[in-house]
Amino acid sequence: MPVKNRFAELLPEITEWRRDLHEHPEILFETHRTSALVAEKLRAFGCDEVVEGIGRTGVVGVIRGKTNGSGKVIGLRADMDALPIHEQTGAPHASKTDGAMHACGHDGHTSMLLGAAKYLSETRNFDGTVVVIFQPAEEGGGGGKEMCDDGMMDRWNIQEVYGMHNWPGRAVGSFAIRPGAFFAATDQFDITLTGKGGHAAKPHETVDTGVMAAHVITALQTIVSRNADPVDQIVVSVTSLESSSKAFNVIPQRVHLKGTVRTMSDDMRALAERRIKEITEGVCTTFGGSADVTYHRGYPVMVNHEEQTEFAADVARAVSGDCTEAPLVMGGEDFAFMLEERPGAYILVGNGDTAPVHHPEYDFTDEAIPAGCSWWAEIVERRMPAA
Ligand SMILES: [Zn+2]
Ligand SMILES: [Zn+2]
Repeated sequence: MPVKNRFAELLPEITEWRRDLHEHPEILFETHRTSALVAEKLRAFGCDEVVEGIGRTGVVGVIRGKTNGSGKVIGLRADMDALPIHEQTGAPHASKTDGAMHACGHDGHTSMLLGAAKYLSETRNFDGTVVVIFQPAEEGGGGGKEMCDDGMMDRWNIQEVYGMHNWPGRAVGSFAIRPGAFFAATDQFDITLTGKGGHAAKPHETVDTGVMAAHVITALQTIVSRNADPVDQIVVSVTSLESSSKAFNVIPQRVHLKGTVRTMSDDMRALAERRIKEITEGVCTTFGGSADVTYHRGYPVMVNHEEQTEFAADVARAVSGDCTEAPLVMGGEDFAFMLEERPGAYILVGNGDTAPVHHPEYDFTDEAIPAGCSWWAEIVERRMPAA
């Protein structure tokens, strides 16, 4: 079965929604216009229930099938938020908001799930209930977690959840997925090194935080190269270094370091947290200074469940004929929280030969819409076949 004909018909309309969203990007939880537009459309499609304000600006819609003998409830999730990037696509539908841009294709995700909701509301050719989930703040804000914390899964008795992300570099409309750990846990660390400031010409009277910082940054590399099992995946990156002095002749009293850790297992995550503290404190003690280390756990590892992944791959093969095993991704994904609460799967859909996500020249590929929408609809119709 290729893409559903109905989505070929709906393509111009869904493309219009997508480009309108692209012109009006909103960041993190500030998806006020987007959420209102989503809720308005869901009501117009005839969803049985539309609730706003789940996870602050999240929106949930409920579509009941012709029958409900199965008692099954499937959640389908899209993200709605944009990024603080200045768009450089030059597209006619480019962002009208300076410093905000749909550079991760969440405009496409929202539009594809809206398209599927329209089709499912029209046809209702399934035995059970669909809950469409539109979340804010995927890009670092934990909007998916907030929707879960608001009791979404229990409130609508959701039993399985599915998610999708576009993927530049894959053929348009083709799919890729993998079971088990898929996207990395994304943690942050903040380190303040304190020494003894003073005149740069009298280093012997100071405790130089610059030298300490250099040794700390170098020593932190050994977590990956010497502490982690070489077959495990782990990234430790120091991304910011700020000195309390901007002068050429002052040894700074304090240096502040920031960075990120990406891991694929709880063991690696715990190792990174422990070793960052031990190494930093140890190095600072060696040089006569001190360190204050905070480690903040962000999104957990996103783990696809075996059975749902196999099913999602079967559906993808039916829709596009092309679904391969995806590589591990060291980026994070807020959908991880939903997959911690319920079994489910997350799939990648090809965006073609475009700029990568988070790049100022990136744009979602509208030609991927029929495949994406068909995958959503088929997930529902095959998982809860009409009685
Ligand atoms: Zn992103
Ligand atoms: Zn994204």
